[in-house]
Amino acid sequence: MPSSRRDFIRQASAIGAGTLISSTLPSSLAQQVSAQPSPTPIVIASANGLHAVVKAMEVIQTGGDALDGVVAGVNIVEDDPNDTSVGYGGLPNEDGVVELDAAVMHGPTHRGGAVAAIRSIKNPSRVARTVMERSDHVLLVGEGALRFAKTHGFKEDDLLTDKAREEWLKWKENLTTKDDWLPPHDENTQDIGGLFAPFYRNHGTIHCSAIDLKGNISCVTTTSGLAFKISGRVGDSPILGAGLFVDNEIGAAGSTGRGEANLINCSSVMIVEYMRQGKSPEDACLMACQRIVDHNRMRRLKDDRGRPNFDVKFYALNKRGEFGSASLFSVGKMAVHEGKEARLVDSAYLYKR
Ligand code: ASP
Repeated sequence: MPSSRRDFIRQASAIGAGTLISSTLPSSLAQQVSAQPSPTPIVIASANGLHAVVKAMEVIQTGGDALDGVVAGVNIVEDDPNDTSVGYGGLPNEDGVVELDAAVMHGPTHRGGAVAAIRSIKNPSRVARTVMERSDHVLLVGEGALRFAKTHGFKEDDLLTDKAREEWLKWKENLTTKDDWLPPHDENTQDIGGLFAPFYRNHGTIHCSAIDLKGNISCVTTTSGLAFKISGRVGDSPILGAGLFVDNEIGAAGSTGRGEANLINCSSVMIVEYMRQGKSPEDACLMACQRIVDHNRMRRLKDDRGRPNFDVKFYALNKRGEFGSASLFSVGKMAVHEGKEARLVDSAYLYKR
């Protein structure tokens, strides 16, 4: 049994009280159950979010809304030039330009905001929040997203650090025919596409979800997306229902990993729905992983054993503060802060690597 499951069971029995929120409950009863404030706030994140969960918890413990907490948390990672998968210092697209994706969801008002393929802005998560709060739209992309951000006082920055530029150059100088531009092919074609490129295609993203002192849930996902992607490529991170989802009465979920696999499965909304049906956060994440495997039909996306040749990870939190995560392959981790300290917890998985 993956150790995250053991942790989870221990944690679940320690929490003890409360009935699973089930779709069979009459809605008035479901509301009563969910209206009980969480006894303690909690923050979860992808494994690169250890500092983020500390910051988010600090904000929440001083009375901040869960959304204030998670956005402040991921801003640390967006600002970090050494994290090449998020915000400033993120690896660029194939033209050497950094394009960022981000989304937020606010549980208590059930609103969301997102930006995709936005250039020159360090903190796309804050722009996503501004889209939610200061426009009648949910998703702005590219040039329009940048103009909107500038209208709201966001400053443009050169996001491409020397470190990221050099990595991009190395990739560019070693290009093969095995990149993202696919020739005509059918479902039995193999060994084409960027997954087989000789270079490690950096995936990386931060997802962060939290419950605040009022028991309200919010979440954010922010990323520079797939390294060296085709310009204009948008991953799962800014797509509500795919890269993140929250239902304030049930819980939140988010993802990292191969966005294309998640986009065609809308996994975050599925995870929240699995939790609504009574599944634990970890089991809900495992079910989303299995669903991706079951839908993975293209030969070029399978290894010799028929398993996906990519990874996807999910993180989930339910209304009672129970959490879990799962990936297709071992061994992923998630960051958790339950009020005292931040720690990494092993994720469940479908396949041993
Ligand atoms: N999910 C992100 C995307 O596909 C990347 C990642 O998390 O690795 O853009």
